[in-house]
Amino acid sequence: MDFRTRGAGRFAPSPSGDLHLGNLRTALLAWLFARSTGRQFLMRVEDLDRVRAGAEARQLADLSAIGLDWDGPVVRQSERTALYDDAIARLTAASLTYECFCTRREILEAASAPHAPDGAYPGTCRNLTAAERAGKARPPALRLRAEVTEFSIDDDVLGRFHGQVDDFVLRRVDGVPAYNLAVVVDDGAQGIDQVVRGDDLLTSSPRQAYLASLLELPTPTYAHVPLALNSQGKRLAKRDGAVTLEDQAAMGLGPLDVLGILARSLELAREGEPVTPDDLLARWDPISLPRTPWVFET
Ligand code: GLU
Repeated sequence: MDFRTRGAGRFAPSPSGDLHLGNLRTALLAWLFARSTGRQFLMRVEDLDRVRAGAEARQLADLSAIGLDWDGPVVRQSERTALYDDAIARLTAASLTYECFCTRREILEAASAPHAPDGAYPGTCRNLTAAERAGKARPPALRLRAEVTEFSIDDDVLGRFHGQVDDFVLRRVDGVPAYNLAVVVDDGAQGIDQVVRGDDLLTSSPRQAYLASLLELPTPTYAHVPLALNSQGKRLAKRDGAVTLEDQAAMGLGPLDVLGILARSLELAREGEPVTPDDLLARWDPISLPRTPWVFET
């Protein structure tokens, strides 16, 4: 069956370094959510930013090593710029974009002013005249001219979430499509109807769902899953010790041992029990997903 009719989930890593156990756990969850609902599972490398040489190949090898598989070829955002340009052109033709000349510092200062809610871009450049724009010495970023300030999404884990939408950036000053734009265009073009990712991205979802509606793309369902934390309660990071498959291998633990650790953290396996992704699929019920962050003690 064509994936457009039965839907697809995805994992979308940024190749900025090796995946750590928290990233692998999110990937496993995305795989479980997709496979348990008969969806395809697509792999998209988000390489418009922060690329480290060799990271993509190692990330994909690590995902395979813990037994995850995906459908079709790996898609890379760097090869899809025509799609992003086209979406930006459509928004611009509909008068839904504007050029922004603010520096990072100006935005920070303006966003901390009393009238700007929670770091939202306050619209400084929204109504510049052509003459004012022509007088600017620096190249502009391109922002969305949002017609709402809030938008709701449905999340399979967290329920309905209502969050802020501001005039977010669509194309950065350096000409690179911004994350929010690329994600929405790709999810739409790839037939993704289920977005499973870490809950650090929850507040991006109202912006993305709103942008999808402007581009007349269907809104996916979301499942934002709890992150992995270190023993100090901070988001797990590479510096926290033995957190990658390579680190674990150095301690004598193979990829399937790590899969077992992840399964245990999801209450899908007993301590030390050998498991495969298919075992976990047979046991998986999204209702029993632990709702609190996973603390990984190294
Ligand atoms: N590339 C993003 C990241 O690695 C994830 C984007 C998404 O899942 O929407 O954090």
